[in-house]
Amino acid sequence: MAYQYISDCHSHSSCSFDATDDMQAMCAAAQALGLAYYTITDHCECDQYDGSEYFGGQKYRDCVANSYVQLLENQARFSNLRLLRGLELGQPLQNLPAAEDALRGRTYDFIIGSLHILAGETDFYFLNPETFTPEQLDDIFRRYFEEILEMLEWGQFDTLAHITYPLRYLCRPGEKPSFAKYQDGLDAVLRKIIADDKAIEFNTSRLIRKNAPVLPDREIFTRYKELGGTCITMGADAHRTQDIAGGMEMALDLLRDIGFTEYTVYIDRKPHQVPILYIPDTERK
Ligand SMILES: [Zn+2]
Ligand SMILES: [Zn+2]
Repeated sequence: MAYQYISDCHSHSSCSFDATDDMQAMCAAAQALGLAYYTITDHCECDQYDGSEYFGGQKYRDCVANSYVQLLENQARFSNLRLLRGLELGQPLQNLPAAEDALRGRTYDFIIGSLHILAGETDFYFLNPETFTPEQLDDIFRRYFEEILEMLEWGQFDTLAHITYPLRYLCRPGEKPSFAKYQDGLDAVLRKIIADDKAIEFNTSRLIRKNAPVLPDREIFTRYKELGGTCITMGADAHRTQDIAGGMEMALDLLRDIGFTEYTVYIDRKPHQVPILYIPDTERK
């Protein structure tokens, strides 16, 4: 690998309904890659805590419990892997008792805050930009940033996941995905993250996907740096073994180019800065 310390702090095992490989297989693959840190962050879609139409009647309540037990088992099993215990809390404010219940009595290292679904809507994944007028799309993005600000106000998580998530699905064909029209909303979120000592995630999953729009991560992280931000967590959002740490080198190249010298790993809910150390070709093992 081109970097001394690569960590992947956003990963799903088969405890998440949309992932394929079990936690032991994910850990074995992460260990083989020689990652500095590896955090498994199975889904807890809070709005669907007690059942989900997408999810064959299963409950996220049970998935979270199952994932946590497996995290403890795999920490014991993989003594040479720095495996950290994480959770991806989806739209916590849409069912606050569920979010609180998921966190209660469990000692996580790292909590990711995500917004996959606006209140009262379906997952952005299922939305088709062709069915909205430009005004309706503007309204969706306005609500997106508002709901993220409310989540940050609540604050019981460490990093804000994949900020460009709605751009993945709400970009018209041929259009460059960008938050340029919504700079005020984006700035408000970035400023709040910095003021509250939280982190923003570099979600690298779209860097390796063919035919997916290249998301405007450079613009966002450049702006984050301008505003004084220093805490960026790295996550490939792998849902199968072969995607672990995918796109990570490209992402670190980009951060280095912008001028960042460190990224952030959360252990026991506390941020630790890890150096971005590039290894020249001739010195790689
Ligand atoms: Zn997510
Ligand atoms: Zn995820």
